[in-house]
Amino acid sequence: MNGTPEAPLWTIAGGGLAGTLLALELAARGDPVRIIERHPNPKIETIPSGRSINLALAHRGLKALAAAGLDGEVKRRAVPMRGRMIHDNGGAARFQPYSRHPERFLYSVQRDTLSRILLDEAHRRPKIEVLFERELVAIDWSRRLAQLRTWCKKKTIPLPFNRLIGCDGAGSGVRRAIEEASGESGRIEWLDHGYREFTLAPDLAGSEDERQALHIWPRGEWMLIALPNSDGSFTATLFMEHAALATLGDDPKRWRSLFKTHFADALSCLDGLDRDLEHNPIGRLGTVYAALWHHAGALLIGDAAHAVVPFHGQGMNAAFEDVGLLVAALDRGTEWPALAAGFQAERQPDTDALARMALDNYREMRAAVHAPGFIRRKALEWELEGRFPERFAPRYDMVMFSDLPYALAEARGAVQAAIVDELLALNDPKARIARARTRIEENLPALRAPQQAQE
Ligand code: FAD
Repeated sequence: MNGTPEAPLWTIAGGGLAGTLLALELAARGDPVRIIERHPNPKIETIPSGRSINLALAHRGLKALAAAGLDGEVKRRAVPMRGRMIHDNGGAARFQPYSRHPERFLYSVQRDTLSRILLDEAHRRPKIEVLFERELVAIDWSRRLAQLRTWCKKKTIPLPFNRLIGCDGAGSGVRRAIEEASGESGRIEWLDHGYREFTLAPDLAGSEDERQALHIWPRGEWMLIALPNSDGSFTATLFMEHAALATLGDDPKRWRSLFKTHFADALSCLDGLDRDLEHNPIGRLGTVYAALWHHAGALLIGDAAHAVVPFHGQGMNAAFEDVGLLVAALDRGTEWPALAAGFQAERQPDTDALARMALDNYREMRAAVHAPGFIRRKALEWELEGRFPERFAPRYDMVMFSDLPYALAEARGAVQAAIVDELLALNDPKARIARARTRIEENLPALRAPQQAQE
């Protein structure tokens, strides 16, 4: 049964990052779109996000923003991150570029800034209607009605829909409704590590290199990272076991003592610790594996379908890439029910691969990045990339600076890691290169397209 006439062609649950970008793309195709967002309009009230103040934006995200004509504005309001600044226990810091190609780098962008850019653009489009302060709590599938609870939570109102896209994040109400209707439940795998965010003063960076970097204090089982903000400050995030975070509690003395012992060079930059402890609660981290991404004309994308832990800086990038893939399928003329049904089959192998790589990257960031073995591996990877540019691309570059499918990046990355292991065991440089040539030509077909540069 179709929705009632007043339902626009598209209803999007969640006016966050993916939801708003998708609305812009659908409206650009001439379709009317309605967004349902549980939070108030940020122009009128500050959104109580309470999490991840800034995000690393990479090639996939920029590509999707470029399709909507917004990449230029976002870049202007973001800070380039040209590599990692690794802080060791003794207080020394060393810069590691992300790639051997200097033009490949990331941008640090504040979530609120990005969200405002997208929403402001949505408000300029007459085809887009945004209903704030409406939370989707249930779906009447037979009548195609979304049940919405108003922000003050006093009443529930029905809203008809035709095609419904769940862009409502990791705790998705659309996903819950699909699970209830289908009887198929997915799972969320929670990490036993959580996070807490702090502000660091601009003094953390004395030079442009220090300012345009993602700072990491790798400490084995846990780590502190800091991303630059456009006002010169940094947002630092400590990732640590929940039990240890609970022990630290909200006690500023304990936090200062932790910084003094493990992140001494950042201690004097702690700016507003009491405020941060009051406003930034412990965050949980998990991977969402939705069982069914579609049901009766509804489809999940972004975190609602496949939230990942943040250690590869790809959750938003993947959510934006979903938008591009969905719109490309519409442009190819794929009919809606078939598109919704086929999207999961096409995309899930990639998002599953991303989920694994994101978990793997936590180990790399918190422990490996400053180990001599890691640096030797990186040097060899870069040498191989220089010698065999069509066949060998570091996995990090494939994930962050290209739009090769994640599953392909993971599979090629595994083959490359085995080759690098084998080569590292050889001492003679000539024998090493000869072996590299044979192994690479045997196992790594030429890539379909050259890697994409960042600018
Ligand atoms: P969201 O951004 O979560 O948006 C969902 C929207 O839906 C929100 O506006 C919410 O209010 C609304 N909503 C929720 N439920 C309902 C409902 N029932 N009804 C109506 N509205 C609803 N990704 C990166 O690419 N790079 C990074 O560096 C990065 N760092 C991160 C650091 C941390 C600590 C965390 C936690 C995440 C990080 N991510 C990063 C991941 C990124 O934040 C998410 O992948 C991204 O926000 C997903 O976008 P989305 O639009 O799918 O969901």
